[in-house]
Amino acid sequence: MRTPIIAGNWKMFKTVEESLAFVEQVKGKAEVAGVESVICAPFTNLPALVEAVKGTSLKIGAQNVHFADSGAYTGEISGGMLKALGVDYVIIGHSERRAYFAESDAIVNQKVLAAYKYGLTPIVCVGESLEEREAGKTKEVCKVQTEAALQGLTSEQAAQVVVAYEPIWAIGTGKSSTADDANEVISYIREVIAAQFSADVAAAVRIQYGGSVKPGNIKEYMSASDIDGALVGGASLEPDSYIQLVEGAK
Ligand code: 13P
Repeated sequence: MRTPIIAGNWKMFKTVEESLAFVEQVKGKAEVAGVESVICAPFTNLPALVEAVKGTSLKIGAQNVHFADSGAYTGEISGGMLKALGVDYVIIGHSERRAYFAESDAIVNQKVLAAYKYGLTPIVCVGESLEEREAGKTKEVCKVQTEAALQGLTSEQAAQVVVAYEPIWAIGTGKSSTADDANEVISYIREVIAAQFSADVAAAVRIQYGGSVKPGNIKEYMSASDIDGALVGGASLEPDSYIQLVEGAK
């Protein structure tokens, strides 16, 4: 039995003050039994957020991590630094990082390994571009990205991974994938994980859908057999909308 997981990806939005106001408004409400609720915030907001969610079931995630333990990497943040703050999750390989910051599959893999080294749970993003979809390459792209990201993990680690299937053409566009289409790709990603690890690992891994998820369509995704939650950008920024997303994942 997989626990559904709603993760808000705030991207480069919200100051510390705005983050704290958000938590005040969602406390007790975006906490629904049987649903995991995670807020992935900018680095600057993480210490205050970790403090603010103490005593609640809300969890905090980062949006990136460097693969090295420490070193001369100006502007970067290590897994050890995040763990020391009390962060639980980290988004790795988001399509925006792959596109704008040249994150390759190999780098994504190094970051996933670094996350485990420091006891962080990775939310690994995979997904095809519009061009790849139109060329019929959706499954192939997701296979390559998933296999590369999870390479070198133990079965125990792989079973803990959260994968987010985010078709790039659906991100921030209002053009969401249909639940059926998303479910088909997500079922396929589960098959890929079964072949790479085992059927047990594949059955345990939680796979989210991401891309224009809103309070109005969350239930549709959640009713699909293989979709275990959502990674949400825009609709996770407003407290009421975020609460409805978590409630919709019940
Ligand atoms: P939107 O929900 O704004 O489409 O963003 C999706 C996303 O990129 C989450 O990581």
